[in-house]
Amino acid sequence: MIKKKITHKRFTIYEIDALSQRMLQRVGLFGDKCDFCNKELPEGVIYIPILHYGCCTECFKEWHEEASYCDREREYEQEKIACLEAWLNYLYIDFETI
Ligand SMILES: [Zn+2]
Repeated sequence: MIKKKITHKRFTIYEIDALSQRMLQRVGLFGDKCDFCNKELPEGVIYIPILHYGCCTECFKEWHEEASYCDREREYEQEKIACLEAWLNYLYIDFETI
């Protein structure tokens, strides 16, 4: 099950389980490497719409510590969220918002 979260810094992120990850990789939503450290993605990744990045948990934590939300980028983030959720709908992948 995918978990959608809004972090305390207002970023929307998705925790993606291994099966959903494989399905989303197959449709090209993200690759098989972490977009930050370029290492092979483990099973279970984080998707960050505002960057359109798929990444490992460690890289996400590092990034999130430093990042600050920029309202100018909200529109881009919303577009990527809509795109991801359209794919989830199309692929019959459920997600829960927590
Ligand atoms: Zn990484």
